[in-house]
Amino acid sequence: MAYNPSQWIWCIVLAKINAINFLTDKIIQNNSSYEPRDQYYIKNKLLALVGDSLVSFEIEDSLSTKDCTKDLTSDPLVQSQIFDLLTPIPSEFNRKFWNLYSTDSVKATDYFHQLSIDNDYLQIDQIAKNIKFSSMTDYGELEITINMSKPEKTTKDIIANAAASKSRTYPLCQLCFENEGYLGGTNYSLRSQHRLLRLNLNHSEWGMQYSPYEYFNEHIIVISKEHRPMHISSATFTNLLDFVDLFPQYFLGSNAGIPIVGGSMLGHEHYQGGEHLFPVEKANDLYGFETAFDDVTASVINWPVSTIRLISKNREHLEELANQINDAWNQYDNEELQIKAESDGIQHHSINPIARKNGSEYTLLIMLRDNNTSVTYPDGIFHVHPEYQHIKQENIGLIEAMGLAILPPRLKIELAEVKKYIMEEPNSIASIHLDWANSLKESYTNQNMDEFIDQNLGQVFAEILENTGVFVNHEDQFKLFTKQFNA
Ligand SMILES: [Zn+2]
Repeated sequence: MAYNPSQWIWCIVLAKINAINFLTDKIIQNNSSYEPRDQYYIKNKLLALVGDSLVSFEIEDSLSTKDCTKDLTSDPLVQSQIFDLLTPIPSEFNRKFWNLYSTDSVKATDYFHQLSIDNDYLQIDQIAKNIKFSSMTDYGELEITINMSKPEKTTKDIIANAAASKSRTYPLCQLCFENEGYLGGTNYSLRSQHRLLRLNLNHSEWGMQYSPYEYFNEHIIVISKEHRPMHISSATFTNLLDFVDLFPQYFLGSNAGIPIVGGSMLGHEHYQGGEHLFPVEKANDLYGFETAFDDVTASVINWPVSTIRLISKNREHLEELANQINDAWNQYDNEELQIKAESDGIQHHSINPIARKNGSEYTLLIMLRDNNTSVTYPDGIFHVHPEYQHIKQENIGLIEAMGLAILPPRLKIELAEVKKYIMEEPNSIASIHLDWANSLKESYTNQNMDEFIDQNLGQVFAEILENTGVFVNHEDQFKLFTKQFNA
């Protein structure tokens, strides 16, 4: 067929559509609270956000609503408000979720996860920049990520942030329910399109959302309706197990409720979970131990963070034993190992509990944590020791204790210089890495440099996790601790 320029131009024209009309249609489709006769109203809402000059703005008709919104405006505050209009309002979203759930819980969470991607709540472009690899160690394969979007926070930063956020009056913190639809802006996250799934755990109301910077697949946060501090109690086990009964496709765990070994948000009780199967869940048993419950399998596992694994189909017995272990740990002192439950009325012990359900069988992991400091280890005896802080100085929270390292973005550049240093090429290696780089240089034997560094980072991460292990290299003492449950 002969080339016909007028036909060619005609095709281009057909492939363009008016962006405002396109979004108006999508908003009506997505939100059953709207009808076609709301079209002028919605169009005007959009124009109020982007300006009348964009009334005839045209886009490729193959664009997604997300790309269309980003083409219309580069202002994140405006984008967030358009994404809000494109998202069902909270009550409608919750109705739709629980309708889907009534036939298939995975379909329901798939819907919510996709919604969080489509409305730009999940920062998938940022997440895609993260560097990920795994590394074989004595504890099996550990997972390492260099997180390009998460600013590095030391224990001191976390305490300072907590103090600064105390002056906030509304919302009280980033996790509060009041963030749903909150505009945000300067120094505060944009939450216009934020939606919280409401659910009941242990007869009280909780909210679930996906983490905007998900560290692993379908990373969820489950948040107490009440703004109250992180705290591990018998209710924690009930909450976690209620959750995995509701959503057996996800695990759910909690950060410790104390500084240094806890997470970065201690002010508002919340849990973290998701779809990912973590290295700790694949760890082998070191030995089993007897308890008062014949139908609970109890063991200590081969894991650097001192961890007990309980498996049972009997939820009641599982919870009872978990409570016994938690209570015992909250009173446990061991002078030789510098383990001390309490000083001057301040609690130093907490746990990371993690629940998962397979068929009718529950697994609970209980990681024992201690946040004492000493003259030798002012940042924490069971915290990252100074010789590893050039790689990681932040708290080792739940996710990392489970075997997924979240390393700071600075390492991307710094490690490139370490590699050059080892190869004896011109470099600007940071002085904090020199000792490590010198020891690597000695063991380097011309293998693939990227693999060599990845493997050694995995080794450093394993040693960091050992720093947090209260019974590391003292299995005999761990055995004595577990012996008391044989009543
Ligand atoms: Zn809060």
